[in-house]
Order: sequence, then C-alpha cells, then structure tokens
Amino acid sequence: MNYRLGILEGDGIGPEIVPAVARVVDAALAAAGAKPVEWVPLPVGVAAIEESGTPLPESTVDTLAGLEAWILGPHDNAAYPEPHRSTLNPSGTIRKHFDLFANIRPAKAFPGARALDPGTDLVIVRENTQGFYADRSTFAGSGEFMPTPDVAIAHAIFTRPGIERIAHEACRLARRRRGHVTVVHKANVLRLTSGMFLDVCREVAARYPDVTVEDHHIDAMAVHLLRRAPEFDVIVTENMFGDILSDLTAEIAGSLGLAPSVNVSGEQGMAQATHGSAPDIAGRGIANPGALMLSAGMLLDWLAARHDDTTLRRAAELIESAVAAALRAGVATPDLGGDAGTTAFTDAVLAAL
Ligand code: ATP
Repeated sequence: MNYRLGILEGDGIGPEIVPAVARVVDAALAAAGAKPVEWVPLPVGVAAIEESGTPLPESTVDTLAGLEAWILGPHDNAAYPEPHRSTLNPSGTIRKHFDLFANIRPAKAFPGARALDPGTDLVIVRENTQGFYADRSTFAGSGEFMPTPDVAIAHAIFTRPGIERIAHEACRLARRRRGHVTVVHKANVLRLTSGMFLDVCREVAARYPDVTVEDHHIDAMAVHLLRRAPEFDVIVTENMFGDILSDLTAEIAGSLGLAPSVNVSGEQGMAQATHGSAPDIAGRGIANPGALMLSAGMLLDWLAARHDDTTLRRAAELIESAVAAALRAGVATPDLGGDAGTTAFTDAVLAAL
C-alpha cells in the first residue's frame, strides 16, 4: 500500500516552495528505495476563496479527515477579504479541528547557514491547543472579547490532560535525543495556570528516570537561549511562549527560512514550516524552500515510526542530509546571504539526493 500525502500550497511563497518540496520528497523516496507516495492536492487560502468562497473548504477538511499525513504551505490571512480575515486562520483551524496538540519545532544549525550559535541543536515542543492563545482554546466562540469599546479581555486555558500529553511527548523525544527536558513557564506570576503547567510537566518527567529536567521562566529563557543555546535539548512550553521562542531559536540556528516543524496528534501529522507566507518576497522566486523540505522530512520520519518502515525513515534522513549538503556547498537563498533562487536551491538538494 502506498502512503497518501495531502498537499496544500497556501498563500504568498506557498505556490513556489510547496511544489519544490514535493519534488524533493519524490526524489528522496526513490533514492531510499521506498514506494512513491500518492499526492492528494487540496485547496486552501486565497486560491480556495477564489474557487469556493472560503479559505478552508469543507471538502478540504473532509478529505484531511481520511488522511494520516499532509504538508501545509503558509497562509496570509491578512490578505483575505472580510469576514475571512477576522476568523481563525486555516492553520489554526486545522490544528484545532484535528487536535494536533504537539507542535515540534527543531532548531539545528547547519554549516553554511550563518547561525548565531553554530552549536545549536534543540527542539521546542509547543503545546498547540490551549494556553494563552485565547482564539483557539474554546469549543465555540473565542476566548477574547470586548465588553465595551474600551475594555478587552482574553482568557488562558490549561488542563491537566492537555499538559500531561505534551509533557509525555517532550520526554519521549528527549529519550531519543540527549535526555534533557527544559520546562518554560511564568509560574512566579501566573501561579495557577503557568504554575500548573510546571507542576504537571515535572510530575510526568519524574516517570522518565532516564530524562533530566530543569525549568526556567520565559523571560530568563530568552536570555539563556541567546547566551548558551547549545546547552538545551528539548524545551517544552505552552502555545504562545513556544511560538515566540521558536522564532528566536530559528534565528539563533540560522534563519527562519530553515526552521521546520510538524504538528501531530496520536493519529495524524502535518508538516508546516515555522515561517509565514513572506508576502514581501512572494512571486520573486527567491524564497527558501529549506524549512518546508526539512518539515516534510520530519513528517516522513513520524510516519516511518508509526509504520515501523525503515525505507521511509531512510528517505527522511536523506532529505535532511541533502539540504545540509546543498548548504555546505554554498548554495544559499538571499535570506541566508546567498543569491540562489528557490529553483537553484531545490536543484542542489535534488542533485545531492
Ligand atoms: P506570519 O504572521 O504568518 O508568521 P510574518 O510576516 O510575521 O507572517 P513571515 O511571513 O514568516 O512572518 O516573514 C517574516 C520575514 O522572514 C519576512 O521578511 C520574510 O520575507 C522572511 N521569510 C519568511 N520565510 C521565508 C523563506 N522561506 N524564505 C526567505 N525569507 C523568508
């Protein structure tokens, strides 16, 4: 049986980088001797609004429900006409609908990527469904509202089961890496919410005797990362802290253009670059497809683990080593200080494969 992978181009630089990533996945599978995947293209974003009047058509969601894994390009909801601009963006909606609770965001410095700290090799495990993102932690409606024009209120949600599952995810990942987990929180101020996040993470980590655990306040953590990023292994934190810290760690490791991620539940996985749709450079052929290529590699690795599929795992490894080889050879897009376009970078990765 071949794997079926959803593919959603999205907005901005999406139509430039997503097809490049599909070419690289196909080539990596062939090089690893794995079966080809069956691609399932699905509309999302501006293209979907033009086609069917909504950025995330029901048909797209229905098809995703029957898939185990897919690749999502970036979205530019600021460019959507109202009412779509003000509603939860397609990526947030998909994460919430399919309960993709773990957002795994590695920051690894590749030679040739101009890292602020070349020794960086860490992973942020970000809780994706609760925390301080009030717009996605409710069953219906939003946790952000204005009782009067001069008063705005937002709530945060932390639940024991929600924290337990993300803490287990972080500890399991740490076991496969250097065995260290850092919990990031603000328990000194937000004693009940962030305090519970810290306490439950520590309780869960105690069940993994081979994993060491420490914790830091979010503000102190930003400083520690700038000064000594290579000392961190797996960082577990809530939704908004994770979003902010992962942009920081992406830059420490080299560039947002090389920062990958997957969003996973127990049953489904979605590859998605950490960066947005980069509307400032869209259509110019200079976007860095590296982050989404690495994200696709992570997705194949996640699928490989689920199916105990060694050729698929090999394809995932090949994607990462081919991106690294292109960078080592000095092929770099402008965000990395080079002058290669999206196609030239992709060709270098394909040649390495
Ligand atoms: P969002 O809110 O969706 O994250 P944003 O505008 O805040 O959107 P990005 O779209 O990620 O953030 O863009 C931030 C900057 O990084 C922009 O200058 C953009 O050109 C650059 N950038 C982002 N992704 C890439 C990429 N893949 N290749 C090159 N430059 C990129």
